[in-house]
Amino acid sequence: MASHRSTLLPRAGGATPISRRAACRAVAALVLLEAAGRAAEPFDPAPLAALARRAGLRVVAGRHLTLVTDVAARDGDGIDELPRVFDDAVPAWCRHFGLVPESLAGWHVCGCLVEDRERFRNAGLLPPDGSVPDFVNGFSAGHRFWLAEQTNPAYRRHLLLHEGVHSFMATVREASTPPWYTEGIAELLATHRLVDGRFEPTPIPARAADVEQLGRIDALRRLRGTASQPSLSEVVALPPALHAEIPAYAAAWAAVALLSGHPRHAGAFVRAERGALDGEFTARLIATAGFDARSAGRDFDAFLDDLDYGYDLPRMAIDWTAGPPLAAPARATVAADRGWQNAGVSLAAGRGYRLRATGRCRLGSAGTTVLESESDGISFDWYRGRPIGRLLAAQWRAVEAGRRPTFEVLATGAGGELRAAVDGPLFLRVNDAPGALADNRGGYDVEIAADR
Ligand SMILES: [Zn+2]
Repeated sequence: MASHRSTLLPRAGGATPISRRAACRAVAALVLLEAAGRAAEPFDPAPLAALARRAGLRVVAGRHLTLVTDVAARDGDGIDELPRVFDDAVPAWCRHFGLVPESLAGWHVCGCLVEDRERFRNAGLLPPDGSVPDFVNGFSAGHRFWLAEQTNPAYRRHLLLHEGVHSFMATVREASTPPWYTEGIAELLATHRLVDGRFEPTPIPARAADVEQLGRIDALRRLRGTASQPSLSEVVALPPALHAEIPAYAAAWAAVALLSGHPRHAGAFVRAERGALDGEFTARLIATAGFDARSAGRDFDAFLDDLDYGYDLPRMAIDWTAGPPLAAPARATVAADRGWQNAGVSLAAGRGYRLRATGRCRLGSAGTTVLESESDGISFDWYRGRPIGRLLAAQWRAVEAGRRPTFEVLATGAGGELRAAVDGPLFLRVNDAPGALADNRGGYDVEIAADR
């Protein structure tokens, strides 16, 4: 129905909780702005640009975006480059949905980057009737969006693209999806870094410095630290009124990032995304052939358990298959370029086991030095409290009832001894950051034996 979206995107460190009342006003605005435009209707930014010029506002136009702002021009403020960044982003959004970018050659939106709302009201660019709510960070309606000026150029760019994705979804895909997908896809497709001034999509940011003030990964890690990270079923049930909090945005991003990037779920997710994007989207996804909601939920828990910058979804994918109980000493190989690996045997809760690891692996390089490690690890660098290269042995379980399951490390190093926490598989990995696996080589041979 509605071809537009409201956004009240909070910023890390400066989060402003949105009252239920403000959220309701945003919903009311959806009705008032019904005429704001659909894809089928051509959108002409020229009248808006004329109003802006008459009012002395700066107008910067690209192929897909006309940007109007009252922010005073300063050398190096990056504002004049925003339409070009936006134009670089649109083909990436097209690719995500299997659209040919040329088919959107005439697609155009108008964005207002606002410092003084009164100037935009007086210019006729911000309706005085309340149909655009008093947004905290941004708001989009059909082919138009508004965003509040930000002091951080990277965050301003992110917010502009986030609102731009809402306009793209509303007008190109005629989307009217549940909040988790609406906000998750906007966050996913807006996340980027600049390489030589050009937009490069980074669905999972490689480095904190690429996404200044975004704070999503840090927010999710804080939730993990207090064992209060959400489950996937909680994320897809997020109501709009709760959505203006950083953890909610972060969780929505995480859900869409996992489902669109994980080798086990991406195929079905893409099929669902290319169908109708309406209020029943979650049910459609669950009903999509090849989509296993229980398996996706477990992979989401594992994703949040180890989430970090540059998290490598294919290399971190986990085989959860429960192997046979360990009847006699068994051997497993652990590759250094992957996350948790199923050792192929199941342990019995309460029973003791011994691990003996041999072999060497490479953990990338530092400058010209190749980093090599044995299974006790090297103190050159530490990750999550342990030397990189150290063999970790764990089981997957909820340590406390009502909390999300997590990998509980039970033994580490070349000669580990452990007592199984649950009946279930033994998982092994070489300690390293989930974003630093691609240049690792080799691994360890591990012998697993039960105590007599
Ligand atoms: Zn939004």
